[in-house]
Amino acid sequence: MTTSTAAEPQAPAPRQRRLQTEIPGPVSRALQERRANAVAAGVASTLPAYITSASGGLLTDADGNVLIDFGSGIAVTSVGHSAPEVVDRVREQASLFTHTCFMVTPYEGYVEVCEALAELTPGDHAKKSVLFNSGAEAVENAVKIARTATGRQAVVVFDHAYHGRTNLTMGMTAKSVPYKHGFGPFAPEVYRVPGSYPYRDGLAGPEAARQAIDRIEKQIGGDQVAAVVLEPIQGEGGFIEPAPGFLPAISSWCQANGVVFVADEVQTGFCRTGNWFASEHEDVVPDLVCTAKGIAGGLPLAAVTGRAELLDAVGPGGLGGTYGGNPIACAAALGAIETMREDGLTGSAKRIEELVLPRLRALATETGVIGDIRGRGAMLAAEFVKPGTNEPDADLTKRIAAACHAQGVVVLTCGTYGNVVRLLPPLSLSNELLDEGLAVLEYAIATEARK
Ligand SMILES: *Cc1c(COP(=O)(O)O)cnc(C)c1O
Repeated sequence: MTTSTAAEPQAPAPRQRRLQTEIPGPVSRALQERRANAVAAGVASTLPAYITSASGGLLTDADGNVLIDFGSGIAVTSVGHSAPEVVDRVREQASLFTHTCFMVTPYEGYVEVCEALAELTPGDHAKKSVLFNSGAEAVENAVKIARTATGRQAVVVFDHAYHGRTNLTMGMTAKSVPYKHGFGPFAPEVYRVPGSYPYRDGLAGPEAARQAIDRIEKQIGGDQVAAVVLEPIQGEGGFIEPAPGFLPAISSWCQANGVVFVADEVQTGFCRTGNWFASEHEDVVPDLVCTAKGIAGGLPLAAVTGRAELLDAVGPGGLGGTYGGNPIACAAALGAIETMREDGLTGSAKRIEELVLPRLRALATETGVIGDIRGRGAMLAAEFVKPGTNEPDADLTKRIAAACHAQGVVVLTCGTYGNVVRLLPPLSLSNELLDEGLAVLEYAIATEARK
């Protein structure tokens, strides 16, 4: 056997969608059988095509099919699947050290990520951060911080909210099946109030906020509330954009009542909506911001960032975790942030919006099965309904997604009623691939709507 220092020559990455077999193909189906014997049934996969490599917004599967990715692994690979800055920094960090535990012997990468978060999140007040591994962990810790800082217990969340799958965040999440069903009891002192869902409640933002605030004041008591936690655009709940004025009204009420306003920007953060953070759209400055997903180009990292005095309310040792702010994940985040800055990915998100929205709107007019088109930047969705009504059509939604999958385009669905197709392409996706994927989606909608 010969050894060589030079890298193995690699086949050039594919540049187009390619259907080699049916999807999933025979190799993926064999893997799916192996999986059935070894992997818990509770972990489901949207499209069981087993991926062997990915780049440039394309996923190559074990059968040689090349799929266009409109999901980014749920809004994670915003900078692409293997962005060079992320890969280089991960390689370098892995060769230096993989872990020490920041709570045992610290390292610079963690500090650098917290500095970047202070700079990038909304508001120019003094900010600090603490790092974790997942979005749910970030949300849980935002609640810990808010409770300690305020000495209060109640946590207010909204209809259609999604905050994660740990015990506290399940309790904060709205939808029962599949997230909560059978998993109780849930943590106490979590209260759900109506949010803003303009397509379904018909309320202007300030009106919807008044309804929520009235509920909080009458049923919980403003002075009992530690935190109001909300997604500036709701993700799993259906890509629901609150009506203008809703977020600012909730934010000012929090300020007036000594309540910590927590923006769960786990899905909306890091350029996804055309701003660094979705809160910026209405100039809302949250007290705490939870981030994860897009932060580190695919490596597990999450953060709570916010007012220094809030973050410092918890004494030494009160926050942390073995892996929180792992050095390789921090290196990846620094590479992802650099890529977002240098490639102007907020602008890319807007480019995607400009290309996709008019086409979805035209389709809504032509087919009559789309009740609402919404979203911002590269977080866009169509809500499917029975023609002439606003009755959710989950079955049609499922068929449209399946038709896209069969044609090699990975789209995801979401929504309390399961009737929303959502688009979350990598922000780096080219106009050509975007266009090709959209054409597949348009055809799927047009044909399935006629069945
Ligand atoms: C995905 C998500 C979470 C949970 O993040 P995990 O990393 O899966 O724990 C929390 N909040 C929002 C808004 C999310 O989209």
